[in-house]
Amino acid sequence: AQKRYSDLRDKPARDRSGIEISLMMNAGLMADLPSLDGSGATGVGLFRTELQFLTRTRVPRRDELAALYARVMDAAGDKRVYFRTLDIGSDKVLPYMKPQEEPNPAMGWRALRVGLDKPGVLSMQLQALLRAANGRPLSVMFPFVATPEEFYRARDALLHQRDREAKLGRPVPKELRIGAMLETPSLGFAPDSFYKACDFISIGGNDLKQFFFAADRENERVRRRYDTLHSSFLTFLERIIARCGATGTVLSFCGEDAGRPVEALTFAALGIRKLSMRPASIGPVKHLIRRSDLGELRAIIQKSRNAGDESVRPAVMSYLASL
Ligand code: PEP
Ligand code: MG
Repeated sequence: AQKRYSDLRDKPARDRSGIEISLMMNAGLMADLPSLDGSGATGVGLFRTELQFLTRTRVPRRDELAALYARVMDAAGDKRVYFRTLDIGSDKVLPYMKPQEEPNPAMGWRALRVGLDKPGVLSMQLQALLRAANGRPLSVMFPFVATPEEFYRARDALLHQRDREAKLGRPVPKELRIGAMLETPSLGFAPDSFYKACDFISIGGNDLKQFFFAADRENERVRRRYDTLHSSFLTFLERIIARCGATGTVLSFCGEDAGRPVEALTFAALGIRKLSMRPASIGPVKHLIRRSDLGELRAIIQKSRNAGDESVRPAVMSYLASL
């Protein structure tokens, strides 16, 4: 099987009708980067920057981070890297941070909430990213945005740092794309102006699903209880797909489900054109996309929903079995 997938490495993830899906990889450590070539990923759809903070005994310095991000961009070459700013709190506790006693850390002081309350660390990280880019294109996404206002504040912080770099005579990215991770249902109901303001939106399905079904992603008893292919969840995803389509916002999906073939294919059939996953999943997902007709699958999914099926999984599985 490995061999079959390596033959696919340089082939596009294009379905039988010609629809192309961009399959990117998730990364967070330098050790992940060689997979960029090996897997055939079209880019890094999610670079989790907190890993660099979690593996140290003190806050990394700006120049250390800049050097590291520069190496990531060097390794990626022409491929795009979506850097996600620090997502700490919840399950990710920094060894040098005072542990927060919180009743519900997943819904607590985490990710961008910390970044906005402690702007020093966020600004330092944004400077490091700008310096690492050194004039090259840069894509930055903010984790766990719950309201447009949070996104605007984070975006302003980045634009402020960019202007500051320019004033200091340093090169600024010739193209700066700023996006939000959609991880709370609230953003599905944000106004159009928010969607227009985002250069891209990336669905963080792990958190989104946790909050959609109110089922703790860390709790073994409930974490697999609800099906990602449940009609209600798909209805919510479709809403986001339609809104991004209407505003011309680039949409991707970067939770674990993007790397599960049945889920990935369903997302593609519903209209998500970019998926970011662990590198080892790219081969299997690409293999299935190339054998499928996404329009046909979409019709099968709609039929299943119209028939009142709670989950479209059986319908998608039987389509896959027929290939
Ligand atoms: C997610 O929530 O789906 C996601 C990609 O981020 P993380 O798993 O790091 O929370
Ligand atoms: Mg998340």
